[in-house]
Amino acid sequence: MTHAVSNQPPPLVGRDVFADDHALVEAVRRHGARDALSRLHDLGMLAGSPEAQGLAVEADTHSPVLRTHDRYGNRVDEVTFHPSWHALMTTAVAFGLHATPWSATEPAAHATRAAGFMVWSQVEAAHLCPVSMTYAAVPALRTDAGTAAVWEPRLTSTEYDPGIRPPAEKGGCLAGMAMTEKQGGSDVRANTTTAEHTGDGGWYALTGHKWFCSAPMNDVFLVLAQAPDGLTCFVVPRMLDDGTRNSFRLQRLKDKLGNRANASAEVEFDGTLGVRLGEEGRGVATIIEMVAATRLDCVLGSAALMRRAVAEATWHAAHRSAFGGLLADAPLMQVVLADLAIESEAASALAMRLAASVDGADDPQERALRRVGLPVAKYWVCKRTPALVAEALECLGGNGYVEESGMPRLYREAPLNSIWEGAGNIQALDLMRVLAREPDAVAAWHAEVETAKGADRRLDACLDDTDAALRDVARDPVGSTHLARRLATRMALLLQGSLLARFAPASVADLFCATRLDRPEGTFGALPAGFDVGAIIARATPELL
Ligand SMILES: Cc1cc2nc3c(=O)[nH]c(=O)nc-3n(C[C@H](O)[C@H](O)[C@H](O)COP(=O)(O)OP(=O)(O)OC[C@H]3O[C@@H](n4cnc5c(N)ncnc54)[C@H](O)[C@@H]3O)c2cc1C
Repeated sequence: MTHAVSNQPPPLVGRDVFADDHALVEAVRRHGARDALSRLHDLGMLAGSPEAQGLAVEADTHSPVLRTHDRYGNRVDEVTFHPSWHALMTTAVAFGLHATPWSATEPAAHATRAAGFMVWSQVEAAHLCPVSMTYAAVPALRTDAGTAAVWEPRLTSTEYDPGIRPPAEKGGCLAGMAMTEKQGGSDVRANTTTAEHTGDGGWYALTGHKWFCSAPMNDVFLVLAQAPDGLTCFVVPRMLDDGTRNSFRLQRLKDKLGNRANASAEVEFDGTLGVRLGEEGRGVATIIEMVAATRLDCVLGSAALMRRAVAEATWHAAHRSAFGGLLADAPLMQVVLADLAIESEAASALAMRLAASVDGADDPQERALRRVGLPVAKYWVCKRTPALVAEALECLGGNGYVEESGMPRLYREAPLNSIWEGAGNIQALDLMRVLAREPDAVAAWHAEVETAKGADRRLDACLDDTDAALRDVARDPVGSTHLARRLATRMALLLQGSLLARFAPASVADLFCATRLDRPEGTFGALPAGFDVGAIIARATPELL
């Protein structure tokens, strides 16, 4: 033997990913999803298994392949995925991480699904893209009862049945969306794809292109196009009712920074048939429910990435020594880990609170909170994720920079949720729209934060300051546009602080309020003295079964 390997942490496999995420377990309990605990533990054990981790590596390594034509030259426009992708999708759909909560009768179905989404996306994030879009399509499809009646049973089925075949013959279907064009994604009103009525019921023929269309093997897409009366939403199936393929030309797959297991295509439409959803000219209003639901998943997905990164960092530090002691006992590593842990916990608490507001959608207060909470949470949580993942990666030292650690995959994925469904500025501008036009939503935000009033003087002071800033903005919303990121940040932090002050251990809430609401610092780990960082790290460190 030339040498023995020592001081390398054991692999972080063979655990219940749900059980050791105390912040998530507590959120599930308080949002009324206790009945789902045992199912979530089952999913957590699957997520922490070596088999699932292996599937994630395979799916990321073997990117999907575009096949435009068959051997005879006929267009097929198909994408071939590695078997590991299908295995991951099978579990996601079987657990109902896609559209199932919309047809569920049990309470807290959306909170349950959100927790499952957070657990399972810690295995591999990319395959959750078609899962999210299918979840998000249902509220938009409900604009038209007839269309919803056709598609909802297919989208809520827990059978994963891949392949382009007539939807009526499939055990379950998946949905996607295509809004973004070459000349612009944020400004969809500039879309150039046209839609002409075919004269056959609600069917239109679409001509044009989409610059990003993820998961193009899904069965049906919500597409924006310019009809005679303006931008309109269409339901575009890949297979038509007569058993022929709809024109759906996949030009290229994107060569992406991360999210490599998933396919994102450029598509051209040439007389592509779609059924109108909602009125002509009301495309944005129709698709907005889908956009809102996918924004929720961006927050959940980012919170999940943070949790996975923190689990890896705390695990490594708990098993790696330097200079004669465990990294986890080094004071300067402790402040870094504790800072990362509270960021992750705050993200999880906010993501789950917003998911629970979907369960409470009959309550106007919950709807109003979701309206303002989504843009601020999407802005802040998604934006914090790349910074957190980079710092967590560094906790693993050189090992963290190496693919086998899994950290580079998290790092490449980390910026995506902030771009998807409206990049950071678009979220901040959406907040300004809320501030200018929707006083009920602002009031719902205030009421939610105020439930923690008196719990922490720093929270109270920050709320007073932010209220004053909001009053200033109300006097001149347009002239205050440059303040949008600042306001979104404060409003997200206050929501997080209020949740932690009410529900997290005192050590977590105390450190969060001191470092986020009182005296924020630029980097992770630049903490003041006098906080119980040991308790925070212990709570965040995963355990094997
Ligand atoms: C991997 C991947 C998959 C995707 N999949 C899909 C999909 O399936 N379907 C789909 O429709 N789209 C998809 N997209 C597209 C994505 O939603 C868009 O890229 C995103 O909405 C931003 O649009 P854009 O790229 O055109 O950027 P732009 O709209 O050009 O924006 C560029 C930058 O300018 C900022 N900005 C824009 N307007 C303003 C303003 N008024 N003031 C200040 N700043 C502003 C934005 O915040 C952004 O930072 C995908 C993107 C990626 C990366």
